[in-house]
Amino acid sequence: MNPVVGLILVIYHGLALAAFVLPWRLDWVLAGFGVFMLVGLGTTLGLHRKLTHRSFECPRWLEYALVTAAMLTLQTSPLEWVANHRLHHGNADQEGDPHTPHKGFWYSYLGWVVDDLSTDREAYKTYCRDLAQDRYYLWLLRYRWIPHGLLLALIVAVWGWRAVPLVMYLPLKLWMHAQYTVNAVCHASRLGFRSYDSPDESRNVWWVGLWALGEGWHNNHHAYPRSPLLGRGPWQLDVGGLVLRLLVKLRLATLHPAAAAVPAREAPED
Ligand SMILES: [Zn+2]
Ligand SMILES: [Zn+2]
Repeated sequence: MNPVVGLILVIYHGLALAAFVLPWRLDWVLAGFGVFMLVGLGTTLGLHRKLTHRSFECPRWLEYALVTAAMLTLQTSPLEWVANHRLHHGNADQEGDPHTPHKGFWYSYLGWVVDDLSTDREAYKTYCRDLAQDRYYLWLLRYRWIPHGLLLALIVAVWGWRAVPLVMYLPLKLWMHAQYTVNAVCHASRLGFRSYDSPDESRNVWWVGLWALGEGWHNNHHAYPRSPLLGRGPWQLDVGGLVLRLLVKLRLATLHPAAAAVPAREAPED
């Protein structure tokens, strides 16, 4: 276990929980919801659907904006995130999966984050060759605390320190727990269902889909990782996918052809 990462997580959770002993105001709650959406969409669209899987195309400025929003969490860097996630897809639920549920539910939830052995900090040089020369991402690899610091300074300037836990740290932690939940609950769980016979134990879990802006439709995603849309049909709400469709309408994005080639279902639901 890495004690520094463990200590940062404890402080981070303490800052988020401080929101419950401080006053709440409607404008702070709305701003906090905005921060959750910003970091969530940045992660699911920028880090995941764009950088990791190349499932849609968009202008470079928009890609950078999404990835910068995702980095507000301070978790790892774009290059490390993408390398970890590509390793996860290549070895899902097997040896080599950074957050394999075979080491236990809590290991796949949070244990792997504090386990230095779960990840290789240099893996991006092998698994992110397409991104490893990008000067902005290399800059973010070193200076990811700058977007976080700028948001913190903005909130303090507008509302003062007492707003920081509710507007910033609570939503950031709620989003990070959404990601941990995808890794743990949507793999090797008795919850949810499988629509596709993917070569792993991924599952679709509706409430994770809602919370994680579409990421909980995880069996759909593992079966067709190049598809930019994670929900299937109107009942599988994929907020990230809806925003992506809006970007397409605004001519700011084009979807990978895999989006049109996905059958609604292949395996009987269990
Ligand atoms: Zn997965
Ligand atoms: Zn993925």
